Formats: sequence, C-alpha cells, structure tokens
Amino acid sequence: MESTIRQVSKSAYVIVGPEGATNFSIVRASDGSAVLIDADIRRIDEVEEALRLTGCSEVKHLIDTHEHFDHTSANFYFRRRGVPIVASTGCLAAMRDEGGPDFECMMKPVPDLYERFPGLSLTLPDVVFADETDVKLPGVTLRLKYRAENGHGHSKGDTTIYFEEEEVFIAGDLLYTEVHPVTFFGNIPNWLTALKPLFQSHYRQLVPGHGPTVTGEQEGRRYFKRMYDYLEDFHGNLQEIKAGRKSREEVAKHMLSGSYTPLGKSRMVERNINQFLTGRWY
Ligand SMILES: [Zn+2]
Repeated sequence: MESTIRQVSKSAYVIVGPEGATNFSIVRASDGSAVLIDADIRRIDEVEEALRLTGCSEVKHLIDTHEHFDHTSANFYFRRRGVPIVASTGCLAAMRDEGGPDFECMMKPVPDLYERFPGLSLTLPDVVFADETDVKLPGVTLRLKYRAENGHGHSKGDTTIYFEEEEVFIAGDLLYTEVHPVTFFGNIPNWLTALKPLFQSHYRQLVPGHGPTVTGEQEGRRYFKRMYDYLEDFHGNLQEIKAGRKSREEVAKHMLSGSYTPLGKSRMVERNINQFLTGRWY
C-alpha cells in the first residue's frame, strides 16, 4: 500500500502512512519554502515526492516531534542539505544517550540505505528548546510545546506543534488514531497525564503520529479520549499480569476485542506486552 498526501488546510499537508505507518507533515510558507515535520530515511522518496507535489521549493526547517527512528532517521539527509533540525532538549538527550543502538537495530533490515547515503548515521537535532518555542516562515507561525510529563511520556521528546494561522494541531505520537499504539518506549501513567490538557486544545484539523487525520475539535476530543481510555485500560491490565491475576494471553485477547477489534497494527499488542514483561523490545 502507498501513503496518501492529504491537504488538511490551505498550506498544510500530511503524508499519511499506509496501514498506520508514520505520518509526516509539510507546512508551506507564502514564499514557497516549507517546514517538514518528521521524516524517515526509509521513506525519503515519498517525502521528496510530496515536497515536489505540494510545490515546496526548499525545506527551511525539519522538526522532530520526538526521538524515535521512524520520525528522526532522515535528520542525516536534511542536515547534509544544510537544513536546521529543531527538537526539544528531551528529544536531543534521548537520541544522544540512547539513540545509537536503536538506530543500528532499525537499519539492519535495510542495509542498502548505507550505500545509497554514505555516512548515514544517527544525526542529532541542532536547534533545541526546553519548554516552548516558535518556528516562523512567511505566513506561518508554528508553536512548539514540550509535553513529555516528567520527561517521559510516549517518548522523552514528545512535542506538539500548533500551526496558528490555519489552526492545525500536530500531536506526534501522543495520539494514534485507528491503530494500536506503540507503548514500549514510554511511561504510560505520564502519557495519561500529558493527554489530559490536550482534550481542551483548539484546532480545526488534528494530525496524529500514526493513523488518519481528524477534522474538528469535537471529533478530536473523541480520539484523545479513546487514546486515554485505551492506555488506562492497557496499563491496568499490565498491572494485573504483574500481580499474577491475569495471563498475558487474556490481556492480549482483551486488547484485540470489543471496541478495539477494528484497530490496525494489532501485532503491537503482543510486542507491548512482551516489552513490559521482559524490558526488551527487540
Ligand atoms: Zn514514537
């Protein structure tokens, strides 16, 4: 399956990953330059094609919503082109302290990329902020806010981005829509706390890290609530496994049934449980 490019406002586009693969966003300024939000080196051709199709002449900034490989692995590619990479200090620290082994592990299935992009390696953001900052281009104000509760929610770098002029809210991986989330790098209780204020956030269009985009606050709140309820339920069930009151099979079955039945990326349930029990994700 192929990704689709969805225009969510006059100047904002989302490359919606197929089957819940990572979403990347493009915000085009009035002079034709652009801000790119997240990019994965394995899907660099899609990103380049989308920049061309949306009429962007030049990427002025790349923003990493958080440190995970599927959001940051194209940092190398854009840094080589002189593009500044913006992220939270939490994201920078996580990449610097823990990103190396993760990068190598994720690259194992795609060694050809090392030949295509000589020197390809973990590339840290070079414009960092602690709590909030703005990124501006002609006609575009992006308000970046660090959201990782106590330094660790879905990830250690969790940042949301609000495109003020056109009221588009980019939630990063704090929000998944229609797919099971990846929880195994995160801290679920902190993630729950971070989600609460997002119920009240303002936007016309809402962009999750994975899954389809959402129109309107009412619908958006439903998705944030669903995300919250899912994580709360899952976390409670993980505690039951730990206490010996439920088996992992029971919990997996529960997370794949009822209102969760239609969710994509169902393989994540077992991986999330496994990681919780073993502390390993690969
Ligand atoms: Zn993530």
